[in-house]
Amino acid sequence: MFDKILIANRGEIALRIQRACRELGIKTVAVHSEADKEAKYVKLADESVCIGPAPSSQSYLNIPAVISAAEVTDAEAIHPGYGFLSENADFAERVEQSGFVFIGPRAETIRLMGDKVSAKDTMKKAGVPCVPGSEGALPDDPDEIIRIAKGIGYPVIIKAAGGGGGRGMRVVHTEAALIGSVNMTKAEAQAAFGNPVVYMEKFLEQPRHIEIQVLADQHGNAIYLGERDCSMQRRHQKVLEEAPAPGISTRLRDKIGQRCADACKRIKYRGAGTFEFLYENDEFYFIEMNTRVQVEHPVTEMITGVDIVQEQIRVAFGEKLSLRQKDIQFRGHAIECRINAEDPYTFVPSPGRISTFHMPGGPGIRVDTHAYQNYMVPPHYDSMIGKLIAYGDTRDQAIARMDIALSEMVVEGIKTNIALHRDLMNDAAFQLGETSIHYLENKLGIHTK
Ligand code: ADP
Repeated sequence: MFDKILIANRGEIALRIQRACRELGIKTVAVHSEADKEAKYVKLADESVCIGPAPSSQSYLNIPAVISAAEVTDAEAIHPGYGFLSENADFAERVEQSGFVFIGPRAETIRLMGDKVSAKDTMKKAGVPCVPGSEGALPDDPDEIIRIAKGIGYPVIIKAAGGGGGRGMRVVHTEAALIGSVNMTKAEAQAAFGNPVVYMEKFLEQPRHIEIQVLADQHGNAIYLGERDCSMQRRHQKVLEEAPAPGISTRLRDKIGQRCADACKRIKYRGAGTFEFLYENDEFYFIEMNTRVQVEHPVTEMITGVDIVQEQIRVAFGEKLSLRQKDIQFRGHAIECRINAEDPYTFVPSPGRISTFHMPGGPGIRVDTHAYQNYMVPPHYDSMIGKLIAYGDTRDQAIARMDIALSEMVVEGIKTNIALHRDLMNDAAFQLGETSIHYLENKLGIHTK
């Protein structure tokens, strides 16, 4: 096994990766910005290196600084976590060219999946069902674009090939608005992502967001670890996730899961990954693949007993997957609430010092957080300060345990979204399950009026 791994990330995921390393007997190197020098995981790491000032462009996104830190500490591999450099193909390439192992897929896979047009094309060929839409990028000829939209049927959505983070998308309801919208999305895509290529999809009206977790090794083996429902979103940002997805039959799960595992074999995928789908009227439609560990991976760990981060490390070292598909059993139900330093209803970030911090416990409760009493939440990064995960034999039990855990949780000195999560645990539609991606925004419309 590796002797030493550098963790190129911050916050709860840096701590999560560090815990996986320690359990495997691997030494850790924490890299951090000046704003994070007091962080818990920095103190707990075997070594730490300050890689720059607070702004992430000068620290966590600074590729030469991360690679030099690996060189001076003699680390063998780099775990990128999520966000920051985790889906940067150039970074993955530079890491490997510098003689380190990148804990993730090959750079060419990241590049292929990072462009949504090539990702969709690849998945279509691999037999993964996709949202009906244009064959690849939209052409320049307006008549041709009108013909494509007519074939798909309105409403349609124009999406940037290089888009991400919920940006670079525009819904079109009528032919009169089509060409103007295409041109506007192209101009925005060029400005935001440096790539004017756009494509067209059928706009699904009431879908759910359901994703499949996969694991693949470098020896041609790939398995799926079931699905997660991440439909509770605001501005395309996930707020709460659960596994399994309410109302999905074993037959449907196995069918779509197997398709994803087969697609991994076909593209020679390596490591952990997620196939994201929109789900409507019992059909799955692929939208994109994330080539990294996700924030919501713990709900899958809770219902399968598989440590996804440890598997990432083992696979990167070159080991064969220790699990076969038939070894994967789904047991019980898990829910994750993202705890953010923000106003629970306006979502305005609320950085600052945490004056009181009390975490819940009890059966089925897991807390993944880097925060503590007196911790200063820096204003420079994402507002997530931790994740509260509740497991139960049934979905109802998981909801009940989550509600109790939220009621015990005390975070003072900053605002948090704990109240919103309590509200959701007691929401009749959430309790029934199967709400669409628009549910939370509709519900919040009532709150903000
Ligand atoms: P990003 O990479 O920016 O997250 P995605 O392609 O994953 O973009 O889409 C993000 C979200 O946008 C989806 O979860 C969904 O809410 C919405 N969306 C994307 N494509 C469609 C579509 N064809 N119909 C309806 N909603 C869509």
